[in-house]
Amino acid sequence: MSTPRRLLVKNIGHLVTMNARRDVLRGAWLAAEGGFISAFGVGAPPPELAAGATVHDAGGGIATPGLINTHHHFYQTMARAYTPGNNLPLLPWLAHMNKLWRPFTAEDLHVASKLALAEMMLTGCTTAADHHYVVPAGSGDNFAAQFRAAAELGVRFHCARGSMDVPSKLIGDWAIQTADEIMGDVARLHREFHDPAPGSFRQVFLAPCAATSASKALLVESARYAKAHGLGLHSHCAETVEEDTFSLEKFGVRPLEYFAECGWDFEGVWFAHGIHFTDTEVKWLGDRRIGVAHCPYANMRLGSGICRVGDLQRAGAKVAIGVDGSASNDSGHVLGELRQALMLARVRYGAGAMSALDAIALGTTGGADLLRRADLGSLEIGKCADLAIFPEVDLHSSGAENPVDALLICWSRRVESLIVGGEVRIAGGRFVDLDLDALIADHHARARRIHAAL
Ligand SMILES: [Zn+2]
Repeated sequence: MSTPRRLLVKNIGHLVTMNARRDVLRGAWLAAEGGFISAFGVGAPPPELAAGATVHDAGGGIATPGLINTHHHFYQTMARAYTPGNNLPLLPWLAHMNKLWRPFTAEDLHVASKLALAEMMLTGCTTAADHHYVVPAGSGDNFAAQFRAAAELGVRFHCARGSMDVPSKLIGDWAIQTADEIMGDVARLHREFHDPAPGSFRQVFLAPCAATSASKALLVESARYAKAHGLGLHSHCAETVEEDTFSLEKFGVRPLEYFAECGWDFEGVWFAHGIHFTDTEVKWLGDRRIGVAHCPYANMRLGSGICRVGDLQRAGAKVAIGVDGSASNDSGHVLGELRQALMLARVRYGAGAMSALDAIALGTTGGADLLRRADLGSLEIGKCADLAIFPEVDLHSSGAENPVDALLICWSRRVESLIVGGEVRIAGGRFVDLDLDALIADHHARARRIHAAL
């Protein structure tokens, strides 16, 4: 990727800063230098800012901070709408879907990652975390393939070194690795790819798949390594009521208590879903500033339940958005997922429970807080120049009185343009350097081969 240059974005209809006051500026401009925001304001930009800069016309659109997705499984883009699991809850759905991955290669994962990232970028995402844990023997360097996909698209990527070291009925032994193999690979990826500096495009975190498929030794060692090196630590927890029963029978404690026993009790830990927490557990999470990746669509799709977003936030827990894997979403529209969060919060807590800006916060400041990225999440001087620019008026929002509310309340739009680290990646609704049609054709053909191999 080239060195970020100077950038001036002019003609922003509404600049949704997501600063502490949640200022929304009308008729704004924003300047960036070296990938970070250097100035912004309203009215005509100072002429000297255009000299030597790339000037990007926002077309009167709505600019938000680049959206942050905190839970996904990119590989599952190749198992969307998979017939055997389309009307099933989590565990039987998973058992069907998991059979597909035996022939999956690192190159398949590269293409799946690129498609998942492209889809999220077109819907406003500039930073994405993926939880990849299926590593078939002989499949190649899965995680390097994912970093390559993100680099090709110029998007910020937080890569889980996901893992499973316990055989289960849900997946074959071909997907299981030993804890030593896993931790050795964690150290390699940490050494080769992790960049903790402000403006980072590459980070690594540890992510055993779940307490059902990771040994206690692996959970304990993952927590120890993450804490010692300041890396993120992630897993699935409290997604279904069946998980409570399983945990009580097998471990004698509830799922969160089991993670706590394994040392998962510090800031930097976040769990996907977090639906079935008790009041005591919500307080415990809040006291430790532990995060929850809220995945509203997948929770509805699998009939898992409704995350207690409001209660978790009031307790002090970090809540951010996750589209979840593309086999339980079955897509990855990040702005659309914020809309789902908005609606589901109102189902649970009433019409006044969440505003459009509250929902946008889940995908911006909430995501930055959860990933411990102080350089992301809002449009302020010194922060990364990551902007999602949506058309202010389109077919779905024509007639709207409040354009910012309309972004969530009207149907979900794609971006008009996307800027990551001061670089324009999407303009006029199209990638500047990606043949999306060719990517879709390659991806779909690979997926069909995988379906046919079963
Ligand atoms: Zn998941």
